[in-house]
Amino acid sequence: MPSKIEESVVVTGREFNVSPKEKIDVGILGATGTVGQQFIALLAGHPWFRTTWLAASERSSGKRYGDLAWRLPVATPADVAKLSVEALTPGVGPKLVLSALDSSVAGEAETAFAAAGHIVLSNSRNHRMDALVPLLIPEINPDHLGLLAAQQKKENRKGAIITNPNCSTMFLAIALAALRKFQPKRVLVTTLQALSGAGYPGVASLDATANVIPVVDGEEEKMETETCKILGEFRAGAIVPHPMTISAATTRVPVVNGHTETVSVEFEKTVSREEILDAFQNFSGEPQELRLPSAPPQPVIYLDAPNRPQPRLDVDREGGMVVHVGRLRTCPVLGYKFVILGHNTIRGAAGAAILNAELMAAKNLLD
Ligand code: NAP
Repeated sequence: MPSKIEESVVVTGREFNVSPKEKIDVGILGATGTVGQQFIALLAGHPWFRTTWLAASERSSGKRYGDLAWRLPVATPADVAKLSVEALTPGVGPKLVLSALDSSVAGEAETAFAAAGHIVLSNSRNHRMDALVPLLIPEINPDHLGLLAAQQKKENRKGAIITNPNCSTMFLAIALAALRKFQPKRVLVTTLQALSGAGYPGVASLDATANVIPVVDGEEEKMETETCKILGEFRAGAIVPHPMTISAATTRVPVVNGHTETVSVEFEKTVSREEILDAFQNFSGEPQELRLPSAPPQPVIYLDAPNRPQPRLDVDREGGMVVHVGRLRTCPVLGYKFVILGHNTIRGAAGAAILNAELMAAKNLLD
């Protein structure tokens, strides 16, 4: 973690001390896409990290970043706009790389970067279920970083791969982690996923407008398996998945940012509505204890109004880093049901990987 203090910045409403000379250099793989741009926007003014190296496909490499299309409603940071986009060459950029690569290329590329000594924090699906790769959500399973030594040994790599989950999985896992002590047993979840979740240009406008697409390829299986790994126990050098059963149905809806999910849960233990509300509101973990720069003070926020959460009204609150929950009520089939909402490109992607990097910096795992 940076030590010399020369100035302070405000991130998610709180002030952090920072020494520009001591910031950690960060490279971004897939810097030109939806998640890559979000990385760059979130890292502008970050107290511990600075973006110094960018890579993307042959379509973008060799070009000045500021000359490429930028699709966020904030200006491209001036220091990043000046950088030239490079090819995906392992060993060239900084040790710490955040990956927003398309999954068609992420598998091989991230493996090659880790072999060349980079710490790769990935958003892609390719390595999430690898037995020795942490599928990390710092509030839930920081102990899963204990897999890294075995990963480096087995793969004979100087670097490492750490992943964050699929965006819909992220919000479900956080909500269920808050309720973990009641022992979730069976879960039914239906998603209403935003268009930005499909990257750029994503779903064709004639398919998306005033429509619901009843499938998001591959997402149901990811939600059903990744959630159990995330809530699993790190035991004897391996992850033992949580034994709950999840059935997911995933849909794409004409919303720009924010995945909404309706969730029904059956618990092993008898639990009251008040206990569930209390568990949501008091959920917290290491990022809050360590006051990591991107950690929301309260990772789950329960909204009492019967018509919330809504993507348009709620998704950007708390810097897009919280999971909003609402409409907790009894379910005649499984016991309880509720609605959750999260920002898919922030808490579900770029913000998640940055929080993972902050946790690793705080634990001196980036040295
Ligand atoms: P995207 O907008 O399509 O961006 C993909 C990025 O990958 C671009 O920078 C692109 O570079 C680069 N790329 C594609 N093919 C390449 C190649 N052959 N060599 C090098 N670079 C290549 O996708 P995205 O939505 O940002 O998603 C990025 C990753 O995050 C995906 O794995 C996705 O599943 C995951 N993810 C996305 C979200 C979300 O909400 N969007 C949430 C969670 C996880 P060019 O611009 O040069 O083509």
